[in-house]
Amino acid sequence: MNRFEGRVAVITGAARGIGFATAARLAEEGAAVAVVDLDEAAAGEAAAKLPGKSVGIGADVSDAASVDAAVARAVEELGGLHILVNNAGVTRDNLLFKMTEQDWDVVMAVHLKGAFLMTKAAQKHFVEQRYGKVVNLSSMSALGNRGQANYSAAKMGLQGLTRTLGIELGGFGINVNAVAPGFVATEMTDATAVRLGMEIDEFRRLGAEGNPLKTFGKPEDIAAAIAFLSSDEASYITGQTLYVDGGATLG
Ligand code: NAD
Repeated sequence: MNRFEGRVAVITGAARGIGFATAARLAEEGAAVAVVDLDEAAAGEAAAKLPGKSVGIGADVSDAASVDAAVARAVEELGGLHILVNNAGVTRDNLLFKMTEQDWDVVMAVHLKGAFLMTKAAQKHFVEQRYGKVVNLSSMSALGNRGQANYSAAKMGLQGLTRTLGIELGGFGINVNAVAPGFVATEMTDATAVRLGMEIDEFRRLGAEGNPLKTFGKPEDIAAAIAFLSSDEASYITGQTLYVDGGATLG
């Protein structure tokens, strides 16, 4: 498939994990990709692994000036902007009584404010050309998860943002959707295992056990869903959140 020929995609947090798998998938299908991540060198290394035209850009999605500069650079170096994937994320897990104000603020800043700032910067281009695709990374934790009051609130907040921007931007040919992954094996979940004092393989086994398909997600599983929602095959879908979780949230 070559669904993204002639398209430019900006993907945040794409130096590794789900973001990188998404960058690879879109690039394999013809997109020029801007890999945006905190560390410019890591972003550049990731971009260099992609087929086709790409650029690595160092930016902090929670900082408005940094976001505006990153989007402007992607447009200038890659010649436009058609797809935005708001994927950058962090965790600061703790039970409420131990969660600090900083734990709360950082998670809100990266996930929620980051998606707000990035989408605001991108929509100028999207509205002008009457075309754009936005995919936000929510999570199955949006439905509630012990030790993740901050993350859960941010990820459910992203679903509200997705629905609202679906309403506001639909008239301009812009689709806004979200993907809510279940357990996916990445450095983020590996770090959680280490924090809990568990072996990574055991943590992944438990992640697999928690859903009817009895398997844990790979970054490529999430990338496939993001690619679909970023493509013209999903032109009649907006404001939706697609759970990609092996059925973990079925009850
Ligand atoms: P990861 O930790 O492997 O990668 C996240 C990337 O985001 C890193 O490269 C990091 O440098 C970057 N990043 C962090 N803060 C940033 C900032 N302020 N500005 C720019 N970049 C920043 O994580 P992952 O597991 O690949 O997760 C990707 C997304 O998917 C996140 O939004 C995460 O919350 C969500 N998610 C992951 C899982 C999972 O099981 N792994 C499940 C549900 C949702």
